[in-house]
Amino acid sequence: MTYNFTPPADAVAAIAAYRNLNLVGGARVSVDRGLDVLNPATGAVLGQAAASDVAETEAAVAAAKVAGAVWAATPARERGKAVAAGGRALLEHFEIVAQVLARETGKAIRTECRGEVKTAADILEFYGGLGSELKGETIPFSPRMLTMTTREPLGVVAAIVPWNVPLVLMMLKIAPALVAGNTVVVKASEEAPFATFLAAEILMQFLPDGVLNVINGTGAECGAALTAHADVAKITFTGSEAVGETVYKAGAARIVPVSLELGGKSPMIVCDDAHLDKAVAGAISGMRFTRQGQSCTASSRIYVHESLYEDFLSALIKELNTLKIGDPLNEATDIGTIINAKQAAVVAGYVAQAEGTEGARVIRCGTLPEGADLTPDLFALPTLLLDLPEDHPCVQNEIFGPVAVIQKWSDYEDVIAKANDSRYGLAATVWTQNLSRALDATSRLNAGYVQVNQNLTIQPNVSYGGFGRSGLGKEASLEAMLAHFTRSKTIVIAMD
Ligand code: NAD
Repeated sequence: MTYNFTPPADAVAAIAAYRNLNLVGGARVSVDRGLDVLNPATGAVLGQAAASDVAETEAAVAAAKVAGAVWAATPARERGKAVAAGGRALLEHFEIVAQVLARETGKAIRTECRGEVKTAADILEFYGGLGSELKGETIPFSPRMLTMTTREPLGVVAAIVPWNVPLVLMMLKIAPALVAGNTVVVKASEEAPFATFLAAEILMQFLPDGVLNVINGTGAECGAALTAHADVAKITFTGSEAVGETVYKAGAARIVPVSLELGGKSPMIVCDDAHLDKAVAGAISGMRFTRQGQSCTASSRIYVHESLYEDFLSALIKELNTLKIGDPLNEATDIGTIINAKQAAVVAGYVAQAEGTEGARVIRCGTLPEGADLTPDLFALPTLLLDLPEDHPCVQNEIFGPVAVIQKWSDYEDVIAKANDSRYGLAATVWTQNLSRALDATSRLNAGYVQVNQNLTIQPNVSYGGFGRSGLGKEASLEAMLAHFTRSKTIVIAMD
């Protein structure tokens, strides 16, 4: 059986329809406890999502396990076709999914949410074409022994996602997992679960019952129950460094593979020969200012050569002042809100720390919106922190808000050392027109994703993942599917 999806009339109806629901075994399953989900832009309760406990988590894993045998035996290209069809269907419904996403995340519909749905669909289509790439190898071990490796699915995959880009991050996990023949239980983010449920239901139309299951609940209860479950064969997690550590330990306790996509404090090095306009545009897109800086990849440490520093700074401030902060659903809005009051307090705390630091400067750009319905506390101005010591918490820690550190440099060796002086290693960019310098920097920067003269977001076919405390393993690309969602079996056949 495949799932019978009825498109909701609009975003409000979709959110109401997911009240205290899980998607388990190809059905909507009611849970008798719920968690309020707030609209960050207004502070109003948007809806209620299931507060799944251990029993409900176990039910989802059991459904995924039951569905596993048939799905693993389905020809890989058929699995891929189903996933790709889900991608096309998601595109057909992209406006309503984007509307739900904007309401629950506070991200602007025009600059962020529509693009996120399109990228999520693109990931499904990309992996949908890779079914026949699940190849093993033959090994010239002995002429009379056929020696080969095959790729097998792992079993039930637990996919745990955060709130900042929930659809893209979910698809980066479930698309390769499903195409490789695994079944999946997604733990939605309790801060922003509804678009996750809607996108999953759209995909479930093309999948046998139980192949994809989605549950919601707190991390401490539902997430922990999932990672501890004996039938979960693989954990793939995107979220904070602290929770990543907990999840890794849960996997270690059962010796199951764990992939972690965690935080970052990514450097952007602007050299003296950089194209100024491109570098300024790259700083705005790289810092993800239109996402309130809530990005693990954010270029949040910007090192500018002293010869360009003043011009770069004034051009950046000028551009940031043009961005309109406001209601995420307004088409004119560039920047929406921070996700919740807790995160807003963290961001404000870091800015206050910078303000209290001798010699440091804090520059706030733009204007806060006014409106009877809007929650003033969750709108944050793009903020630049200048002249901080390198060991300052604002330079070393992930702030996860619209706050970028801008530092002046004069010595190339010194700036490379500073860029690498971080416990993270997710991404880095270099801005120069000198090819030798670009190649030198890319080879020396300690980051999993290094770009020159651009600041692209995650691309489905380009492997992405961090070094150090930014995580373990890769997402996106064929490499990620083979390395993280299959196991390799060696087979040796005597021919005599
Ligand atoms: P979080 O770690 O608080 O939560 C992430 C998910 O983990 C949520 O679904 C949460 O319910 C769940 N969780 C919490 N405790 C758990 C536990 N004990 N066991 C299992 N699951 C648990 O992160 P967040 O606040 O939702 O997201 C922001 C963080 O995510 C930032 O630190 C950011 O850098 C990171 N992030 C990383 C990437 C990347 O690709 N590297 C991408 C986006 C976000």
